[in-house]
Amino acid sequence: MSDRSADGAGGAGDGGSWPPVRRLADWDASRLRSLADAFETPLYVLDLDRARANYRRLAAAFPDAEIAYAAKANGLVDLLRVLCADGATIECASAGEVYRAREAGIPGDLIRYTAVNPPERDLEYVVDAWREDPTLTITAGAWDTVRRLAELGYGGRLCLRVTPGVGAGHHAAVRTGGDATFGLPADRLVETARDAVDRGLDLVGLHAHVGSGVLDADQRAAHRRFVARVADLVTEVCDATGSLDLVSVGGGFGVPYRSDETPLALDALANATRAALADVDARLSIEPGRYLVADAGVLLTEANTVKETPTTRVVGVDAGMTTLLRPALYDASHAVRPLAPDAPDRETISQTVSGPVCESADLICADRSFPRVERGELLAVGNAGAYGYEMTSTYNARPRPATVVVDGSDARLARRRESLSDLARLEVATGREVVE
Ligand SMILES: *Cc1c(COP(=O)(O)O)cnc(C)c1O
Repeated sequence: MSDRSADGAGGAGDGGSWPPVRRLADWDASRLRSLADAFETPLYVLDLDRARANYRRLAAAFPDAEIAYAAKANGLVDLLRVLCADGATIECASAGEVYRAREAGIPGDLIRYTAVNPPERDLEYVVDAWREDPTLTITAGAWDTVRRLAELGYGGRLCLRVTPGVGAGHHAAVRTGGDATFGLPADRLVETARDAVDRGLDLVGLHAHVGSGVLDADQRAAHRRFVARVADLVTEVCDATGSLDLVSVGGGFGVPYRSDETPLALDALANATRAALADVDARLSIEPGRYLVADAGVLLTEANTVKETPTTRVVGVDAGMTTLLRPALYDASHAVRPLAPDAPDRETISQTVSGPVCESADLICADRSFPRVERGELLAVGNAGAYGYEMTSTYNARPRPATVVVDGSDARLARRRESLSDLARLEVATGREVVE
């Protein structure tokens, strides 16, 4: 693994080699047009250099921390390899993500598995993986998960996930830190820690996750309160069961989606985190997902229908909620940019970009002002690198898009587009008997 500090230039937010934000306008339109020509649309484009830059900026702000990339933001194997080569470990939210990390050749000591209401099949898979590579770490968020792991014979590295009762984030649906679903209630923590140790598990850390999309000063203040609460809880556990190696404060580092939002004040967040943990004698671990990949990706889509209505101009495109769910799920705002060479000279009008799915939520954006788009032209959708492809579906029997990876001047297909026959592949032939 390369040395995190090897690239001495740049640093948190200094605008050097790791500029704090990459807006959609910063992407080269002619390159995006040629990728769409070569690989067709809808197409996800992921720039590995940008993911590296984001990683290095974060590593510079948190020089001694473990950085565990939350693979659920974007689990592309190429990306996992690139981040691990820079020093990341991989945070997995399911057995499937553990499987993908192992397929990518990532060793157990770089794999963290966080079990949220884990199906038995997931636990069995991960415990089997641990038998093959006893260095992996499991995080449990419920007392009975600890018991089930012990019953499966697991005696490996364990972190306990606690609900600190303080959440933060861009939308109520993602403020997990305050939500009882995701961790042990704080008042059961010490008892569960003792129980885990009694059952022969190797208790190595405490984990909590605040939520997602911490960006502005208020959310940073909430994050700081959250970390302070975690610090108190670590002390309680250490007093009961002895020292811990790791204290993970999760992810949630936000990125600006709208043009009026400013980038996260990373150094301020890092300093506040360090200050809140000053008395804790365990290595800090952070779990960024979105922060590392959101602005490393764009989605390319083509306008197939253009329609004037009394209130807006509707641009129908070949990407929608099955390609990028965030607008429908969270009302998320993603920048949209027409890629026609003369687009900057065109008149700016209100347009609604909608997809091909028969749902009124199937929108990329509504009543947004940007240069007029004509049928057959390309649009780029910004900040699509995180929670984009991972949330795709085949609803309305829409095949999933392809992904192209850009690495310096190279571009190659990383994941092919689904075909129509892929859509029927998993269906079991029934012989068409009629059930009376
Ligand atoms: C989703 C998740 C993350 C990453 O969240 P981001 O907002 O993408 O940084 C980190 N840790 C856990 C446990 C998560 O569930």
